[in-house]
Amino acid sequence: MEREPFPEPIFVTCPIIPDLDKYRRRLDKIWTGKWFTNNGKQHQLLEERLKKYLDVPQISLFNNGTIALMTACRCLGLSGEVITTPFTFAATPHALTWNNITPVFCDIEPTTYTIDADKLESSITSDTTAILPVHIFGTPCNIQKIQKIADNYGLKIIYDAAHAFGTKVGNKGIGNFGDITMFSFHATKQFHTAEGGALTFGDPSLKEKIDLLKNFGIKNEEEVIIAGINGKMNELQAALGMEVIKYLDADRTQRKQLYDTYIQKLKNISGLVLPEVKKNVYNNYQYFVIHVEREKFGISRDEVHENLKKFNVFTRKYFSPLCSEYEYYRRLPSASKANLPMANKIVDEVLCMPLYGTLFVQDIEKICEIVTGFQK
Ligand SMILES: *Cc1c(COP(=O)(O)O)cnc(C)c1O
Repeated sequence: MEREPFPEPIFVTCPIIPDLDKYRRRLDKIWTGKWFTNNGKQHQLLEERLKKYLDVPQISLFNNGTIALMTACRCLGLSGEVITTPFTFAATPHALTWNNITPVFCDIEPTTYTIDADKLESSITSDTTAILPVHIFGTPCNIQKIQKIADNYGLKIIYDAAHAFGTKVGNKGIGNFGDITMFSFHATKQFHTAEGGALTFGDPSLKEKIDLLKNFGIKNEEEVIIAGINGKMNELQAALGMEVIKYLDADRTQRKQLYDTYIQKLKNISGLVLPEVKKNVYNNYQYFVIHVEREKFGISRDEVHENLKKFNVFTRKYFSPLCSEYEYYRRLPSASKANLPMANKIVDEVLCMPLYGTLFVQDIEKICEIVTGFQK
């Protein structure tokens, strides 16, 4: 059956758009109070709200996730080498580089695309100070094993949870593992403040240090005690977050329905490997990623990506190119293809499909029929 293209382009994601009048009411309060940033009322409200939502003991809000990650590295006094994944967004290794830390790339697992904990130990040297794994596409890393290795070698752990807002392992929010966890509130992320981010952590003594570091190290009117940066979330961002968060549960319910539709429609298609959600994991349904096995499906991931454009469907080849292939990192010994066989294979085979709360089940059914029609 010949399918018609969608009348309007469908992208991988679409931000939650909250009610403008309600946002305006918060802006009115900001205008009246004449307080735009520096731990204002909206900031305080959002910190409390997110602390509860993420079920974490401590949180500090930031102007974006990248500065938050850079601040986390600084807070823990990291130096030398930090082990991370090449299959991530540019911000992950760059946050290390901006701290004069050398990223050491470790290969990934074939099914979760997260860092391969069984290969971590061989990446550790006398210069290693920490591990920076990423809960890629919202899928939790092998948290227990990573913690065990970190404990054995006296390493810190910072998790990049930019994709994992709302994910839970067992009954625990994803922000409760390692030393510090970073979240991004960029507009492409499920919960957003246009731009924004946060660090969560268990050690209460870190709160003061992180809040100092994100505000130039200013302790009081007389004293500036560390070389901080400007990482503060402003009131306009925080107010937006207070409105966006109201939509989150409904958004996730709809995403789950769409996600399940993808699974139902594609599960029996030879050559398409679908994501598996582990039993003890509460998925946040931020992404739906398919793995195209060319030999079996008949055409490649790149061809699926190209062909879908003709139907007005714009998927994304996340995270191609690998960070280890960037001009800036490719000469590192750990960036060699021989060191990263799985990441180099996966990066050419996975495709991120449209998934957001304002799509309909019928849209997903149609996308699946189009994709199925490509099979050779
Ligand atoms: C979005 C993202 C970041 C960076 O977040 P910003 O808020 O855009 O600075 C970091 N890591 C990953 C994996 C991301 O997807």
